[in-house]
Amino acid sequence: MRSSLLAVLSLLALAACAPANVREPPGPADYPRTRPEQTRYRETSHYEDVKKFLDSLRALRAPLAFGTIGKTNEGREIPYVIASRPLVSTASEAKRLGRPIVYVQGNIHAGEVEGKDALLALLRDLTFSSKSNVLDSIVLIAVPIYNADGNERFAAQSVNRTEQNGPESVGIRTNAQNLDLNRDYVKAEAPETRASLAMFNTWDPDVFVDLHTTDGSFHGYALTYSPSLNPAAVFGGVYARDSLLPVLRERMRTRDGFEVFDYGNFTSDEPIARPDTSARESWATYDARPRFGTNYYGIRGRIGILSEAYSHDSLARRIASTYAFVNETLSLIAEKGAAIRSLTARADSQPLAWGRSPDSLQIVAIRSELSTPRMLDVIKEDLEKTGDSSLTQPGVKRGERRTGRFRTIRMPVYDRFVSTLERTPPAAYVVAPGDTAVATLLRLHGIRVDRSDSAWTARGESFVIDSIITAPRTFQGHHEVRLKGRWERGLQALPAKSFIVSTAQARGALVVYLLEPESDDGFATWNLFDPDIKKGGRFPVTRIFDLSRRGRGASRRTSASITQQLQY
Ligand SMILES: [Zn+2]
Repeated sequence: MRSSLLAVLSLLALAACAPANVREPPGPADYPRTRPEQTRYRETSHYEDVKKFLDSLRALRAPLAFGTIGKTNEGREIPYVIASRPLVSTASEAKRLGRPIVYVQGNIHAGEVEGKDALLALLRDLTFSSKSNVLDSIVLIAVPIYNADGNERFAAQSVNRTEQNGPESVGIRTNAQNLDLNRDYVKAEAPETRASLAMFNTWDPDVFVDLHTTDGSFHGYALTYSPSLNPAAVFGGVYARDSLLPVLRERMRTRDGFEVFDYGNFTSDEPIARPDTSARESWATYDARPRFGTNYYGIRGRIGILSEAYSHDSLARRIASTYAFVNETLSLIAEKGAAIRSLTARADSQPLAWGRSPDSLQIVAIRSELSTPRMLDVIKEDLEKTGDSSLTQPGVKRGERRTGRFRTIRMPVYDRFVSTLERTPPAAYVVAPGDTAVATLLRLHGIRVDRSDSAWTARGESFVIDSIITAPRTFQGHHEVRLKGRWERGLQALPAKSFIVSTAQARGALVVYLLEPESDDGFATWNLFDPDIKKGGRFPVTRIFDLSRRGRGASRRTSASITQQLQY
């Protein structure tokens, strides 16, 4: 009696509650909308908007894993979201799926806003789509608001982003320390950089996509892109340049209606060091050094892709082109998943053989310059004088107006670099025992660093410093250093507690790039060795040809270290 009464009562209770509690599965009307979508593309998301957007995805039980890569200077959590079917929430689960892992980052320069908003919209659309899509073939890690502190320094676009066509109020380029995060990938002085390096080490994404906005020339492209430009990026750099980006360009045109091209500026706007003086105009890309994230990522043996929406397009169009570019990139990566995974494996295994077989040695470029240009068609927009000092469009100089007249001009295109200095990797670099900051920073880059227990001697080379060229102007708080000198062979006496950095590890090329004294963007550049160097003196990092005679403590660790390194 009692139990049936209870049953009836609870049924009644359920029935009474039903209209309020039983909900339809969420439909499009419930899906969160980005701030630009809610404001007719007049405003970009604040940090709180991003958090709310992600919170509503979570509340709708979207199949996503949420986390934070770390904290900014001002204590803001930098959110990441993992999307894949089946859903994974850890790096080892992701790895077990055997698919490409793609890390897409928005907002590194916080005034360049559309990456953040496009990425949120794309994440929502892919997640709630019932059709099969890229999430069935890749693991997506989305970091929509990387420079969260810079994002919150809202001010007029005419102040924070002078060459951009809205929105009216945007954040700043730098982080709260006034560091440009896209010049920080080698020295890693920002907490944001350190957090992203930790993500790279943990998740080891096959592809890194960094979303920006241009700030230069008036050209005819909705978006420009770049692979890793550094000649040391022999795996991902070349593959992205030759196998991914030409296909993306075609698809952006035919499927999405956007004309896109290799990133660059007209040299009449931004002169280059060695122009082809016979040409009236040319087009040149930016810089190959790894202080820039996508170049850095290439030297890690992976694919880095830079995306630059056209700053003179409206916010709505910039969001649309960035959305399409990321969407097409993900879908192409999904299609080429097997090739990309095998590229990753080859990039990792090649340096492992360096110490064992001299034939496998890959020479690593450590300095480079723009190579001979190719003649290609580039679209340019004509501007004309207004005859007064009126402002015709945000981001266009006073007294000038856009004409909408586009011309296709054949001109020299400088879109790649050649090495000007190369180094053969030694078996290892040995760093002086006192340079703990160097060891710490190497480890932050996911590089294995051992320590010798005892003093030892080994065949090798030390670098005699002939000159120290210090940049007169500060850049990112540094007077960059360039060293010139010569390597001298001989037996090297290495003190106990020296740091041993084998090049026979997955990131062997990065080891070379960071530690070579003559590298154009190594630790020496960023003053890490300043206290130890003087003209005529020796560089505190030694090249060692053979590790077999090193201290016993170090060799005992070798097999364990290799296992550890394979897990990165
Ligand atoms: Zn940028």
